[in-house]
Amino acid sequence: MKSLFLFLSIVIPFSLVIRAQTAAFVGVNVIPMDRERLMKNQTVIVRNGVIIQIGDAAKVKAPKDATVVDGKGKFLLPGLVDMHTHLLSDSDEYDEAIAPEELRVMVANGVTTVRFMIGTPELLKYRGRSAAGEIVAPTIYVASPHITGREQGNNFVVTTVEEGREAVRRSKADGYDFIKVTTFIPSLIYEAVVDEAKKLGIRVVGHADARYVGVERAWKAGQQIEHLDGYMEMLLKPEAPMKHSISDILIYGIDNWKSLDYLDESRIPEIAKRTVESNAFVDPTHHFMKNSFGRLRTEDEMRAQPDFRFYPAKVQATWFDFYKRNRMIREIPLEKRARWIALREKMIRAIYDAGGKLMTGSDTPEFLWLYGFGLHHELKALKDSGISNYGVLTAGTRNPHEFLGSLNKAGTIEKGKRADLILLNANPLDNIEATKDRSGVMLKGKWYTQAELDRWLDEAATKISGSYHEPTKASE
Ligand SMILES: [Zn+2]
Repeated sequence: MKSLFLFLSIVIPFSLVIRAQTAAFVGVNVIPMDRERLMKNQTVIVRNGVIIQIGDAAKVKAPKDATVVDGKGKFLLPGLVDMHTHLLSDSDEYDEAIAPEELRVMVANGVTTVRFMIGTPELLKYRGRSAAGEIVAPTIYVASPHITGREQGNNFVVTTVEEGREAVRRSKADGYDFIKVTTFIPSLIYEAVVDEAKKLGIRVVGHADARYVGVERAWKAGQQIEHLDGYMEMLLKPEAPMKHSISDILIYGIDNWKSLDYLDESRIPEIAKRTVESNAFVDPTHHFMKNSFGRLRTEDEMRAQPDFRFYPAKVQATWFDFYKRNRMIREIPLEKRARWIALREKMIRAIYDAGGKLMTGSDTPEFLWLYGFGLHHELKALKDSGISNYGVLTAGTRNPHEFLGSLNKAGTIEKGKRADLILLNANPLDNIEATKDRSGVMLKGKWYTQAELDRWLDEAATKISGSYHEPTKASE
């Protein structure tokens, strides 16, 4: 195959081998996300994966060879970004071969760029295959296997400063885009990780374990913090009898919930201001925290989720069981959870008001929340934190690209940008949930109708749930 292609490309001009692909959205309302505005009744022309023209529909006509998409009464938005996700096939309970299906589920939900937050060699491979156009997949960024103080899978367990530095060097050499840190990393080793990463020019992202690292240290390091880790500890009054609160995995510590009575919310504006000064980009993964641990779903609610069918019965049962048996879930009253959610939402709102750049991360597919679907929940959760619709949409589109260094290529609807677009049936500036009501998705200039995408989802649900197998001794 390879030699045949080489032969053709020598004797036939390249342009004849690959025919230009042109598409035009006609009469569409554009939400360009360059600033807060709506451009009514436009024609948007895309050629070879790039937006080449945007103009008034009365003046700009679709080229003759273009695939025409009727945009009348519809709204065009840049494709969405999930800054914190994983695949089911990252674990050995699912066949690795279903990864392309999983990636298509993301696209079918309008997610056109993703950052995988725990790296594997397979994800690096799919990053390359996506970039080469070999699979229908979002544009992929991959953080390193996570650096941790204790064995947790897909990780570098570091117990010395030198191991910390070596984990960074290995990750950089293997081609990961970020260094991911999680939990149980002693502060001296954390400092070494950060120092090595600085030397090699790779950014550190992830958890800020309040017991070992904490927000102050992470700020100083310029780390991008996920989940608002460590933020509740920042609110503890000096007279509080405890040092820990309800961030990160400390959430499972029943006693940590007592700290709610010692949190000083008058500190929130100052903490928000300092957040913006240290690293303005914040990915709170708020939906995940709120709806996995804050307000509890009933089994009926879980069954009614559109993504429920992607999970095999065994996994569904595991999560039902978790909600029945987990001690923290059973013992912490709803009123306390509501106070915790309200504090998180005040913090998110304050960071936004101080000029912070929120980013959307779903932290799927744990807790029966699937990738793709989960990103829309995060948009809603940010809205419910008191952020304007435009502010929420910046978190889902341009802000992540600004953080990733790709805003010159994607994240807004402008001439010269990659044609990653979603066509909505209603205006998300009026109702944020309009992002779930789509006519279709354009990925790198290729148009897929939502009817087609819905068929993919049907197929994927069967394939993904069917690829589950209980881990056996042999597969360990
Ligand atoms: Zn995660």
